[in-house]
Amino acid sequence: METKRNTEMKEIYNSLGISPEVWELGQETEKALSERFREFDETAEYNQLKVIHAMQENRVSEGCFNYASGYGYSDQGRDTLEKVYASAFHTEAALVRPQITCGTHALAIALAANLRPGDELLSPVGKPYDTLEEVIGIRPSNGSLAEYGVTYRQVELLPDGYFDYPAIEAALNERTKLVTIQRSKGYQTRPSYSVEKIGELIAFIKERRPDVICMVDNCYGEFVERIEPSDVGADMIVGSLIKNPGGGLAPIGGYIAGREDLIENCAYRLTSPGLGREVGASLGVMQSFYQGFFLAPTVVASALKGAVFAANIYEKLGFPVIPDGRESRHDIIQAVTLGSPEAVIAFCQGIQAAAPVDSYVTPEPWAMPGYDSDVIMAAGAFVQGSSIELSADGPIKPPYAVYFQGGLTWYHAKLGILKSLQCMIDAGVIDIRKIRQ
Ligand SMILES: *Cc1c(COP(=O)(O)O)cnc(C)c1O
Repeated sequence: METKRNTEMKEIYNSLGISPEVWELGQETEKALSERFREFDETAEYNQLKVIHAMQENRVSEGCFNYASGYGYSDQGRDTLEKVYASAFHTEAALVRPQITCGTHALAIALAANLRPGDELLSPVGKPYDTLEEVIGIRPSNGSLAEYGVTYRQVELLPDGYFDYPAIEAALNERTKLVTIQRSKGYQTRPSYSVEKIGELIAFIKERRPDVICMVDNCYGEFVERIEPSDVGADMIVGSLIKNPGGGLAPIGGYIAGREDLIENCAYRLTSPGLGREVGASLGVMQSFYQGFFLAPTVVASALKGAVFAANIYEKLGFPVIPDGRESRHDIIQAVTLGSPEAVIAFCQGIQAAAPVDSYVTPEPWAMPGYDSDVIMAAGAFVQGSSIELSADGPIKPPYAVYFQGGLTWYHAKLGILKSLQCMIDAGVIDIRKIRQ
């Protein structure tokens, strides 16, 4: 029998354009995921306590939220926040700043600060994230590391997406100075790596070359597990504050956490030789940095629920999904292969239509700089381009996959996914009767 609460729920979804059939599919799917959701909640609980502990340990106070301008000498909020990050990630030091404009910038600083002409950079995990190709100079680019005489070597992954240890051993040479390991698959089809697997890779490298710096691109990975790569030997971890650790509140920023000497080098690179960490005023963003970091564990759990929910719904409908509905999660990205341009467009339009901001906008594919096909992007975000908020994008080329991530709350992620399905049904690219068989 239909309870009153159920009827109300169905009605409010209906008022947002979700048909009863789609809502019911969502309910069934969610019910079957209660154990997975409980695990995400437990991880969030653990990480919440980790963050609170770090804030208490470093005596975060109201004064930390004060506006600092000018040179930013002894900016209490900034200096304390960097200690909070270092405590939470169990590192000696951290650089957490609004002057770090995004994840790519944070990675570029970490690399350029710790490599010198004649050094070699090694990626033992295949091709790095697209934007790093220009940082490194894999694609010729103005100001790349290659222009400064830093060479690059890459070891391809094995067919299963994991590490080719003999080839990694062979690639390590006397010039290898820094190894970069990307935790999340980004927009590739390889697996995202668990922190444990990253630890094994670091141990292998350190056994052979204890002096090599191991850096992890931690984007999209923070708070997905109870430990971070810095807990398993990484010398530096690097990420963006408009992804996981900003908790949706940080309006800008990036972080680098790790060994004291390496972070000091990063500070000299970010500001200037001689000035380092001492300058760089926090300009009033500190409260959102602290509060975002405080909320990040639960925000990440919401995004993970959305990802697993989508994997299960689209798997039921017969679409290939990576990761699949049962796999353990190591980042917040979900890929769904939809198989046609019409489906990719309808999916992204559904995500957009479910947004709290710009829901009336209809996204269209366009020729984005840096991409070799048209791309459609859906985002109705409070912070421009924030991908901890519910967002999706799909290159308009085979196999016609969409990548989506985020959701500041589980309920919004759920609405977005149901709306994506609804849009695909309304556009005639999915037959709802398929579900009911
Ligand atoms: C997002 C991301 C980056 C780059 O971050 P931006 O903030 O977009 O510059 C680098 N590496 C990975 C794995 C990412 O997911």
